[in-house]
Amino acid sequence: MNAPVFPELKIPNTIAAGPGPGNTSQRVLDAYYNQGVADHMNPDVIRGMIEAKKMLREIWGTNNVHTFGVAGTGWSGLDMMFSVVHPGEKIVLFVNGTFSGIDELSVRMKGATEEELQANSLDPKAASVITVKVPHGQSVSGEIVEKALGEHKPKWAAMAHWETGSGRVNDIRGFSDACEKHGVLGLVDAVSSLGIAEFRADDYPGIHGWASCPQKGVMALPLTYSPVTFSDTYIEELKKVGGRSFAHHPILEARHWSIIEGQDVEKGSYHRTHSPYAVASFHEALRMVLEEGMLQRAERYRTAEKALNAALTKMGCTVTSNMTSLLVLDLPEQLHGQEKDFVAKCRAENFCIWPTLSEPTQIRVGILNLLKEEELTEITRRFGDMLNRHDCKTDVDAAVAELKRHLQ
Ligand SMILES: *Cc1c(COP(=O)(O)O)cnc(C)c1O
Repeated sequence: MNAPVFPELKIPNTIAAGPGPGNTSQRVLDAYYNQGVADHMNPDVIRGMIEAKKMLREIWGTNNVHTFGVAGTGWSGLDMMFSVVHPGEKIVLFVNGTFSGIDELSVRMKGATEEELQANSLDPKAASVITVKVPHGQSVSGEIVEKALGEHKPKWAAMAHWETGSGRVNDIRGFSDACEKHGVLGLVDAVSSLGIAEFRADDYPGIHGWASCPQKGVMALPLTYSPVTFSDTYIEELKKVGGRSFAHHPILEARHWSIIEGQDVEKGSYHRTHSPYAVASFHEALRMVLEEGMLQRAERYRTAEKALNAALTKMGCTVTSNMTSLLVLDLPEQLHGQEKDFVAKCRAENFCIWPTLSEPTQIRVGILNLLKEEELTEITRRFGDMLNRHDCKTDVDAAVAELKRHLQ
């Protein structure tokens, strides 16, 4: 039997107003295909990787030598970061939503003993992994971290910086301080915050590993690199305990980014075959972040969130998040229970918002790379029109006026 040759795949243009991926800029897409045919060890490709590494140090706000991109998605960088956690090593995880919940599963898989893994391989219970649950809609505070680390005295601690499931900003200052005080090595999932929040990794000496992603604040789809950075302490520890992954080994992967024996060198050595197109588009995305400036980006997101928050509130919604790239909200009272239907109808019209993935069901409206007045107006109008079509009487013009008032 012959496999059919399917028609060429066409993907529609949508408003990607969810938690991620964001709206990839045309400049990044152009950089992807506007390249010659070359192999992965071509000097210009290697130079692009070296420049990308240096730009990433600026974006992370760090002097860490081990700063680079891990091929793949956010989970690839997180998998690399957590690869240092070995079975039986005590680690405290703070969970306040979907993504820190998956981080916790990932850590249980690595921290479980052979027996624990075999008892339930897809969802192992690991005695060495201690989970501190914080309710949906609340942030992980410094006090919560301080108390748990004082009580459990683990080797490692981990949490998400911005928990995209519930739209909450967690306290990395409190986390870092508590890690330092108790001699704990902190690890942070910064998938949602890098490139949006103004923070410098080097200002948080209790945190030794950070991992982000290509598709949110940095906006580097076509799917390319998950930015990571590791302190010298992390790397020393990894050297001591070892890692069980070739592809996701921080020291081995760093070699291709021209970091060998803890030093920047002139030319990297092969680790795996990087695509010149991927390198070029990633490089362009990083240039765009730095051209705009980290502080300016943070400010633009803050202003846009405030304005859209006011417009949605005007239409009877209740926003419970405090991230600046994502609004997590409850619909007006009369539509409670209809959230999934509401989202499905929006998505059917290529207005791609999201529900929350864990309970309670709320609506998530993201503004990644959708910060222009026209774009925010379109989101407000689409949202308001859908409320009206659900018989929830809404003055869309008044909401748009509210949005504009806040953007002045
Ligand atoms: C999006 C996200 C992830 C997963 O990233 P992928 O690119 O889908 O692999 C992990 N953690 C957080 C906090 C996220 O927001």
